[in-house]
Amino acid sequence: MNRRQRHRIANALDCRLISRSERVALQQGLCFLCRLPLDGGATYDHVLPLAHGGTEHYRNKVLAHGKCNNEKGDRMPTAEELDRLAELWRGYLPRGLFVHASERAMFTLADVWPI
Ligand SMILES: [Zn+2]
Repeated sequence: MNRRQRHRIANALDCRLISRSERVALQQGLCFLCRLPLDGGATYDHVLPLAHGGTEHYRNKVLAHGKCNNEKGDRMPTAEELDRLAELWRGYLPRGLFVHASERAMFTLADVWPI
């Protein structure tokens, strides 16, 4: 993947808005942090905290109970949480983003992983 292709895909992904219901479905209705079912009051957790250089990129945000999110605070993600995050987005390409098969073959998480 050349620089232009990477830039185009990264931009398209960054512009993508993922609805709350899509996120619930991606997380199978579970809190990212405690793995129990989400109730209606889920909050957005930044896996890599903003205080530590995390971004608003959609891949850095997950749904979590407000209580779990508060307890986590600004701590860095555990290795297990990072694995879980990678698994969450593995192979995910937003609807509406056209990626030619030759590009898709070269597409890896690292290409658009800003955290
Ligand atoms: Zn929770």
